[in-house]
Amino acid sequence: MKSDVPEKLIRNVVAACGSCEDCRYYIEEACLFLPELFRLHDRKREGGGEASEEELRQLCDLCNLCGLCPCPKIRSEIMAAKAAYAERDGLPFSVRALQDVGRIGKLCGAFPRLGNLMMANPVTSSLIKRTLGMHPDRRMPAVPRENFDRWLDTRSASRKNKAAPDARKAIYYPGCTARYLFPEVARAAVEVLEAFGVEVVAAVGEPEGECCGMPPLLEGDQPMALKLVSRNLQWMAEHVAAGFDVVCSCPTCGYFFKHLLREGAYYSQAYQQQAGADANRLLIPAGMGITGPRQGDMVVLHRATYGPILQDKGLFSGLDPLQRIAVGEHAFDLGEYLARLAGEGRFPETARAVPRRAVYYPPCHLREQKIGYPFLNLLQQVPELSVTPLTGTLHCCGMAGIMGYKKQFHQPSLDLGAPLMARIRAHEPEAILTECLSCRLQFQHMDDIPIQHPIEVLRETLAE
Ligand code: SF4
Ligand code: SF4
Repeated sequence: MKSDVPEKLIRNVVAACGSCEDCRYYIEEACLFLPELFRLHDRKREGGGEASEEELRQLCDLCNLCGLCPCPKIRSEIMAAKAAYAERDGLPFSVRALQDVGRIGKLCGAFPRLGNLMMANPVTSSLIKRTLGMHPDRRMPAVPRENFDRWLDTRSASRKNKAAPDARKAIYYPGCTARYLFPEVARAAVEVLEAFGVEVVAAVGEPEGECCGMPPLLEGDQPMALKLVSRNLQWMAEHVAAGFDVVCSCPTCGYFFKHLLREGAYYSQAYQQQAGADANRLLIPAGMGITGPRQGDMVVLHRATYGPILQDKGLFSGLDPLQRIAVGEHAFDLGEYLARLAGEGRFPETARAVPRRAVYYPPCHLREQKIGYPFLNLLQQVPELSVTPLTGTLHCCGMAGIMGYKKQFHQPSLDLGAPLMARIRAHEPEAILTECLSCRLQFQHMDDIPIQHPIEVLRETLAE
């Protein structure tokens, strides 16, 4: 008999949000999931009947884990429902293929000219899109002639390591999109980090360059996400133990390593032992979303009351909690990392002005990291660059990782991104600046305004 676990999970979410209603209006332009949830909830309340299995399935697909809603518990229940659907019904080939961003990137990177020729030809392009479950109208990015891995190979052959003996050490984690589609971003990140005096090891190779795991996680493919994460964790933890930080130019990868990977790890027995907790008390670092009486940097909780609730029981709980914490605590957004170095007086010599009128859009997963807008301050130091920040709203580009490529999500994703694009156009900018390369793909689909990662602007301004 078919299990009804996924439907039960998602019905619980509908009931919880339906009786809370806090998000009914404030998030309606930035999220597809909650407005649909309230529609189904209202219909039932008005006697129009329960949501059907099909409606629940479609509802679940609408959440892109953007993190804009206020309840982590609701988000993890939606993810649990996605995983239950994937386990019970399996994932179609198109979804399995599309979520494997690293494999697609490697394949296209091996034959860039062929890839571009095939995408330029309407017949082969339509065949590829159909096979991958993409919408026929979705614009495809050009495959670069030289991906980041190749650039690194040629560069290291001709270059001596110039880092000072006391240099900070960082793993630069480009993420799949910068590595294979926009290598100019990854190149700029390495060059700017080095200009700030950092010794950089780029995360490319096997297993160092594995995808962070977010795309399969979004599709409910938890086994695949777990496989990728456990490969990354081991080598990252070894580097962190050797004094490296982990620096991400992609806000989604950064959000993943800082927040999702660490979720629950502080409640584990291993951490509690290390922190000096005892039979009566749990110790949780302050700033982790738990409030209570403080002892130094720790929140102290009564074990008998909170022990049964605060447990390390998430998807990644089978992975070493101390390694998850070590990596999470040493993971930085690239802008955040550079802003810290600039605060220490390490801003490199700038030689060139960048006369440009730009808007800056901070993407969802950067906002969710709750670190402010570190690149904005850095950009304000670039001579002749005028930047208008599009901050303080719940706007979303609508792309949601790779979801905007999917046939059924194409139009909703454009509708979701339309208010943001209207706001951008109203400024008539010469460039859009944003850290997120999924946003970049969406903006490229919607308009021809040039788009840059802020790190590319910083690269432009550096002395050679
Ligand atoms: S996400 Fe949280 S705050 Fe928003 S409606 Fe649901 S339960 Fe309420
Ligand atoms: S995570 Fe984003 S898409 Fe999902 S319910 Fe919350 S606001 Fe909506």
